[in-house]
Amino acid sequence: MRLNAMNQGESCDVLIVGGAAMGSAAAHFLASTPGFRGRVRVLEQDPSYQRCATTLSVASIRHQFSTPENIRMSMFGSAFVANIGAHLALDGQAPDLGWHEAGYLFLASTAGLPALQANHATQRAEGAQVQLMDPVALQARFPWLRVHDLAGGSWGQRGEGWLDAYSLMSAFRRKAQSLGVVWQPARALALQREGRYITGVRLEDGSLIRCGTVINTAGCGAAALARTAGIDLPVQARKRCVFHVRSPARTPGCGLVIDPSGVYFRPEGDGWLCGVAPPEDQDPPAEDFEVTHQLFDDLIWPVLAARVPGFEALRVVRAWAGHYDLNLLDRNMILGAHPDIDNLLFANGFSGHGLQHAPAVGRALSELVLHGRFRSLDLSRLGWARVLDRRPLPELNVV
Ligand SMILES: Cc1cc2nc3c(=O)[nH]c(=O)nc-3n(C[C@H](O)[C@H](O)[C@H](O)COP(=O)(O)OP(=O)(O)OC[C@H]3O[C@@H](n4cnc5c(N)ncnc54)[C@H](O)[C@@H]3O)c2cc1C
Repeated sequence: MRLNAMNQGESCDVLIVGGAAMGSAAAHFLASTPGFRGRVRVLEQDPSYQRCATTLSVASIRHQFSTPENIRMSMFGSAFVANIGAHLALDGQAPDLGWHEAGYLFLASTAGLPALQANHATQRAEGAQVQLMDPVALQARFPWLRVHDLAGGSWGQRGEGWLDAYSLMSAFRRKAQSLGVVWQPARALALQREGRYITGVRLEDGSLIRCGTVINTAGCGAAALARTAGIDLPVQARKRCVFHVRSPARTPGCGLVIDPSGVYFRPEGDGWLCGVAPPEDQDPPAEDFEVTHQLFDDLIWPVLAARVPGFEALRVVRAWAGHYDLNLLDRNMILGAHPDIDNLLFANGFSGHGLQHAPAVGRALSELVLHGRFRSLDLSRLGWARVLDRRPLPELNVV
């Protein structure tokens, strides 16, 4: 860790820009490292957290990825969440994250079956408890599912489900604050760079915070911040809409189901959440948070009505839009330092599956700050090298 040598003005050892899931997790893991005495400060431009991806997330965890590192990070994430009291209890009180271990069910048509089987082999090799099912087994396990056009499915038996994202973020934040981390409601305007170092961060009010290490966990604001230090971070915001629906249908034992079309649904309260990514040619960089209701009428409803008897009577009770921080290269995160700057760490481009990776990413960032390398889980393939060499490490299971 490069400690901050300056004494004049405001200063800290580690300055984290963006205090949602990733920033809070990083702050927690740093502050809870035995023997760590550094001063950690988190800058958050919106203390209400109304528009960050964390709050607007579908907040689900799956082990069913195609990239081994993502599988491992999710396995760490679900174990962390299931045992939250051991990590984030305050005054003996474990946070209530509303963790539902209900599984994911990826469905495949004949065309999609080879990819499902290849991903399954990767997941099993990493230790995930996933089961391939043929249509007969699917029908027996999920009698409410229409399977006539399916060639198979992959069911997560352990460690997959959903939780309350805001509660997880708050639990990280409160624990970090109890360990001395300072949260400052402020917007970082620019990184002040001198050669290979960031010496400070300029705030919107004109003040400067000098720091030893900066961590960029600014979500969809990360690319703009990186640009102020001359770094081109290939991450852009993309709108994703979520619809909360009700219907007379009954779906006992339902987890998060991903139809071969890409439409997903999962139970939520007395209804279901559902959504779909728009076609790529109708997915421009996002600025607004207006819900695209046409997606429900044109893409989601027809698929759900055909897949589950009773879903023809779906009624939307509420809907919202959030932003994915999409890594344009390969839909995988960019984690670690850029080779041109020694004391600026990135954790960006989560492309819609970052919440479940927050515990693993927080831990990884603390290791990079304190030891300059990954110690628990080698995530070096997710670093800048592949981005600069234009060697994508594509994640195939992006929902
Ligand atoms: C609709 C939707 C569904 C999703 N579903 C899932 C899911 O089921 N499972 C899953 O794992 N992931 C899911 N995700 C993705 C997940 O929510 C994100 O990957 C994760 O929350 C990213 O966390 P973050 O802290 O990096 O970014 P964010 O939560 O976006 O937080 C970034 C923070 O940085 C702050 N900030 C930005 N710029 C500045 C600045 N200049 N100065 C100070 N502060 C700044 C922002 O105010 C914000 O609070 C979903 C996302 C969306 C939008």
